[in-house]
Amino acid sequence: MTSVLISACLLGVKCRHNGRDSKSKKVMEKFEGQELIPVCPEQLGGLSTPRPPAEIVGGDGGDVLDRCASVITVQGEDKTREFLCGAHQTLEIAKSHNATAAVLKSNSPSCGCGLIYDGTFTGELVDGDGVTSALLRRQGIQVMTDADIETDESSQES
Ligand code: SF4
Repeated sequence: MTSVLISACLLGVKCRHNGRDSKSKKVMEKFEGQELIPVCPEQLGGLSTPRPPAEIVGGDGGDVLDRCASVITVQGEDKTREFLCGAHQTLEIAKSHNATAAVLKSNSPSCGCGLIYDGTFTGELVDGDGVTSALLRRQGIQVMTDADIETDESSQES
């Protein structure tokens, strides 16, 4: 059976910065019957829940991996180390389960893939990956988001 890494918040775990989840019925339906490995990179990196929201400033997750951008909270605290730690912990979990794919939460500075918040805390999005997505993709793991799945489902419905 193929193992798929999944953002824990998409399964209903209340691990988001605001103490809520992002449960996705469509994601759960799509992967029904597959072995899902829940991960929350921010918690794995040692951050508590709830926690202040953070965004990537000066680039995207790939730039954070290359140490040319930082992850900063809305209060101005640098959490780059925790985000990097969480990304590497997530990669270790993926390897230990031989996961070759991941479905992660869209737009997040950790889990987003293709689009992330732009670092201004205004809800604006820019092209780029979160820190964990960038690391997983560099290691050859296919990353998709809940938004990709929602889009696929609605195009099939129309
Ligand atoms: Fe955790 Fe990722 Fe969900 Fe944020 S988006 S709460 S880091 S699993």
